[in-house]
Amino acid sequence: METQLLMASVKANSLAAQLLRTGQVVAIPTETVYGLAADATNPAAVQRIFEAKGRPQDNPLIVHIAGQEMLAQVVAAWPPAAKRLADAFWPGPLTLVLPRAGGIAPAVGAGLATVGVRMPAHPVALDIIARAGVPLAAPSANRSGRPSPTTAAHVLQDMAGRIPLVVDGGNSPVGVESTVVSLAGKPTVLRPGFVTPAELSEALGQEVALAPSVQGPAEESGPVESPGVKYRHYAPKAKLTLVEGPLPAFAAFVAVKSTETPGVYAMCFTGEEKTLAVPAVPYGAEDDPKTQAAGLFAALRQLDEAGAQQVYARMPAGGGVGLAVRNRLLRAAQFRVESET
Ligand code: AMP
Ligand code: MG
Repeated sequence: METQLLMASVKANSLAAQLLRTGQVVAIPTETVYGLAADATNPAAVQRIFEAKGRPQDNPLIVHIAGQEMLAQVVAAWPPAAKRLADAFWPGPLTLVLPRAGGIAPAVGAGLATVGVRMPAHPVALDIIARAGVPLAAPSANRSGRPSPTTAAHVLQDMAGRIPLVVDGGNSPVGVESTVVSLAGKPTVLRPGFVTPAELSEALGQEVALAPSVQGPAEESGPVESPGVKYRHYAPKAKLTLVEGPLPAFAAFVAVKSTETPGVYAMCFTGEEKTLAVPAVPYGAEDDPKTQAAGLFAALRQLDEAGAQQVYARMPAGGGVGLAVRNRLLRAAQFRVESET
């Protein structure tokens, strides 16, 4: 299959909508990362997402809507907490997990009775959903296990030949996937993102809980609340290790490592490259987690292209959006952390 790449336009968005209505899979820009979209009400279309991504069948998909009038097609309940959070954060990078409506293809929920739903804050995504006229299931548009794509070029790296169309809407400004909150029971953050736990608690007027998987590795056995969390995720081809400690200790550490093994690279904060004795790719400013979120996945892909074999990354502080940055980096590193003080 030949993959077309088109800049977002009335013509491109209409073509995307037409392909989506006929059950095809199309990559679309969103404010978080690029999504691999298909009609969430069409089981065959949803199956094509799993095939294109190489995604395990027990990892559920998020459904994207263009307006709250589409909710009735997606969810079987809309409790007051959902209304509060939707009013506060939609359109935006927040996914709500609720009981699933009957018209949504069961594979979207990957065996769960629930569905994750959000309204993205990206004009191109909203336009394509509205033109398609159906809710769109759309996981990140990477091959399963790879870093999420934040540009159309990243999507092509993973999806060329596998899908008919990529719509280019520029860089995804947020850079990490949506915050996922379950409202199936007590409000619980299943995956951290741009919307922080403090912001959620404030909007709800009640504390939100953090699922254990937000901070640590998912349980090896037994049920997990958010199936996606148990897989190797966001990972570059290189072996990634996070290094905790101040810059001078990090610089000394990577200098020693580079004498021991070939292909050692650093993933650092902006401006630190010149103080390091190994090739380095910056991923954001040390004191600005939003820039870290925006640069994280592009940096991981750049390291692969450079041929890095061992990557040592500066550990982000982890406050606010930094919680999501830390969560993604820990998973990309399969929880390998070294402490250098
Ligand atoms: P992605 O679309 O690649 O950003 O991944 C979607 C993630 O959202 C999944 O891996 C889950 O962690 C989460 N998710 C989606 N739907 C549900 C659901 N019904 N219940 C729990 N978690 C969900
Ligand atoms: Mg993903």
